[in-house]
Amino acid sequence: MRGVVFPGNRKIEYLEVPDPTPGPLDVVIEMKASGMCGTDLQNYRRPLDQPAYMPSLIGRPPIAGHEPAGIVCAVGSAVPAQLARVGQRVMVHHYQGCNACAHCRTGWQQLCRNVQPMVRVYGNNDDGGHAPYLKVPANTVVTLPDSLSFEAGAAIACGTGTAYQALRRMHLSAADTIAIFGQGPVGLSATQFARAMNARVIAIDTNEQRLEHARRLGADVAFAPSGDGDVAEAILELTGGQGVDKSLETSGAASARSAAIRAAKTWGTCCFVGEGGEVRINVSPELLRRQMTVMGSWTFSTTGQAECAAFVAAKGLDVGQLYTHRWTLDRAEEAYRLFDQGVGGKGVFLL
Ligand SMILES: [Zn+2]
Ligand SMILES: [Zn+2]
Repeated sequence: MRGVVFPGNRKIEYLEVPDPTPGPLDVVIEMKASGMCGTDLQNYRRPLDQPAYMPSLIGRPPIAGHEPAGIVCAVGSAVPAQLARVGQRVMVHHYQGCNACAHCRTGWQQLCRNVQPMVRVYGNNDDGGHAPYLKVPANTVVTLPDSLSFEAGAAIACGTGTAYQALRRMHLSAADTIAIFGQGPVGLSATQFARAMNARVIAIDTNEQRLEHARRLGADVAFAPSGDGDVAEAILELTGGQGVDKSLETSGAASARSAAIRAAKTWGTCCFVGEGGEVRINVSPELLRRQMTVMGSWTFSTTGQAECAAFVAAKGLDVGQLYTHRWTLDRAEEAYRLFDQGVGGKGVFLL
């Protein structure tokens, strides 16, 4: 089969590799959908002389794509039937740790510190979903409910699942007003979920197209920061001077992080999911004298991923509305070129 790899310098290559066969504890998935994500873009953009986002664990560039969904087509000899069976519709929880530590046993394999040099991350340091087939350990598959499309599964396997987990971690309720900073794939999913949880949603982004998308997904208010005004001030005005109960920061920008803290009300909660960088916090006035809770949230567990899928199915949400582009694998070059240029929103390969 041929899979998409990122050699660097904004190039796409198709690598010819043997069709995978399962080891005793593995499954092979016939891929149906494989999402495109911001971390893929980091690997795509990196200069040729710069190492990949994660060093490969397989002695060659790994096939990209860490948001896989498809149908199990082969099962290893030692895989219990309860774990996986041929014909099962699945997503992949795209990490593999030691399987023995407390994190791994509770479905948080990405938090494992027992494997050297690092956890396996499919599509980053081992083969991922941008290919017709994907081999993964059977304990990484998460059932995709029948009513959900494969592209919905691919979304839940990364950004959409991340958004859901963050809202659950903040115990978002119908009584809450939430400000969601950044309306990229994670922020838009959070807007859609927060609305489905009956919270009042204030969406913030600098891009008018994304704000329009946020309104369509149910944001009560969606606005761009004005050049001279403070976003936190604007949010205080929208909430009768109180601030929001919860704020979620998805962009990773220092200014947005600071605004997300200051826009929350006394006893409020702020959650960061945007990766990288730093933020400066004036601790007394912004945090402790307002009894603030600030937390980080990184993706989700296997059971959290299943819970997100069940929520999407129960509420009849169309998380596929997130995608602006659908591609076939042979158009990967064009797909990543447009993604790199910031044209449109999230893309997905359908196979
Ligand atoms: Zn992703
Ligand atoms: Zn572990």
